[in-house]
Amino acid sequence: MIQVENLVNGQHIFLEESFDDISPLDSTIIAKVPRTKKIDEAVMAATEAQLQWGSLSIIERCYWLDNIANALEDKIEEIAELESLDTGKPYDIARNVDAERSINNFRFFAKFGREIRDDEFVMEDAINHIIRKPIGVVGLISPWNLPLYLLTWKIAPALLMGNTIIAKPSEITPLTAHLFGQICTDIGLPKGVINILHGYGSEVGQEIVSHPDIKAISFTGGTSTGRIVAATAAPLFKKLSLELGGKNASIILDDADLDITVPGVLRASFLNSGQICLCGSRILVHSSIAEEFLTRYLSELKDFEIGPVISEEHRNKILSYIQLAKDEGGAIIAGGNIPDKAGSWIEPTVIGGISHNSRTATEEIFGPVVTIHTFDTDDEAIEIANCTEYGLAGSVWSKERGFEIAERIDSGMVWVNTWLHRDLRVPFGGVKNSGVGREGGMWSVNFFSEVVNICVKEH
Ligand code: NAD
Repeated sequence: MIQVENLVNGQHIFLEESFDDISPLDSTIIAKVPRTKKIDEAVMAATEAQLQWGSLSIIERCYWLDNIANALEDKIEEIAELESLDTGKPYDIARNVDAERSINNFRFFAKFGREIRDDEFVMEDAINHIIRKPIGVVGLISPWNLPLYLLTWKIAPALLMGNTIIAKPSEITPLTAHLFGQICTDIGLPKGVINILHGYGSEVGQEIVSHPDIKAISFTGGTSTGRIVAATAAPLFKKLSLELGGKNASIILDDADLDITVPGVLRASFLNSGQICLCGSRILVHSSIAEEFLTRYLSELKDFEIGPVISEEHRNKILSYIQLAKDEGGAIIAGGNIPDKAGSWIEPTVIGGISHNSRTATEEIFGPVVTIHTFDTDDEAIEIANCTEYGLAGSVWSKERGFEIAERIDSGMVWVNTWLHRDLRVPFGGVKNSGVGREGGMWSVNFFSEVVNICVKEH
């Protein structure tokens, strides 16, 4: 049994009041998690540490980011094992996606930091110097689907720009954040620079969002939680970044190359058991190729390996949507059942015959469930793609017209003939109810800084 600990001011602390971390693989208890309610000590430690951390040069902080990356690399197997245990995802995905990417987040921002140049705007008689200062103490709140990957995506740029951190990982997947805290201590990261507090969102999460000395909140999670976070943080004038839910469309035009489209759309449907905010949970296929596409898609689906979903509770939510789909007149083309074994498993599920305006096809399910819709014209495809409250991502599959269709989709990110092909320099984030702001490269650097203009007039 793992005892998860908070990291506060360089000390690893277990709290008497704790709750269970349950394995999605077989429903056993795998860890005890501290139920943190008070955060003042951590905020004070972070505030004090920030004076020193913020006064380092960016190059010195890049050195620390590389140090963290090296230390994570040394433990890559352990990270993958813990992530796989905690989320139920296959080990290979935990190793090649989650653990690899967590390391890359630090490597990327270390390299990026070395290349940042302050802008200057020259006037006839003066020069404007744009400098970036740390914000101070920042709160980072992350979800359970890509636990260390998404938390480090925030930690790396926050540290780079001279901030100190109060991090709150999801209460459902605390294990890799716990290991990360130990790694930071092992490499001698100055105490107080990173503080990690475990517990429930409505308790410690809410405390972080409402604490007056935490000056910015970077939140990734569901849209309904994002609404609460925004309502709490806005009157305090905190800087706010919100990465929220999605209901993304994979659009397959009549000229799509099905040899790449079928495996690509399948991966977008079910990678991580469909529990990635970018997953293509709505498949829009041109009616002239719908039959051939579906036959090949269902055939390849048989060999697609997925893990369980994150918890029994989440599985119940997914099952309620499968029932809703039936109530809304949909047909279950594949899956829909629970395999006969312990843990929160559910078959990958494909639903057809349902209106694109139905609740099933417009609300985020966040599991291995896709709906399939056909269209005859580009306008119809765009109308279906844009008919939800979300606008996070999407993909278009076409030999000739992908870009032209992609431009008309109301979402922050669109891939053409690929999916989840990531360059960490580009903006990542959603429009509509999928979020506010962007992460990635310069967008993260600017979010985690106070950008100041100093105008110097010649004399
Ligand atoms: P969630 O909103 O339930 O929880 C996210 C985090 O917020 C957790 O750490 C939780 O403890 C915390 N939290 C909950 N209530 C809080 C409150 N009142 N104040 C502060 N923090 C609080 O989301 P989840 O179920 O963990 O994750 C799934 C959701 O995340 C999906 O909607 C998915 O689309 C979204 N997501 C979005 C992105 C993106 O980049 N846009 C990436 C991954 C996941």
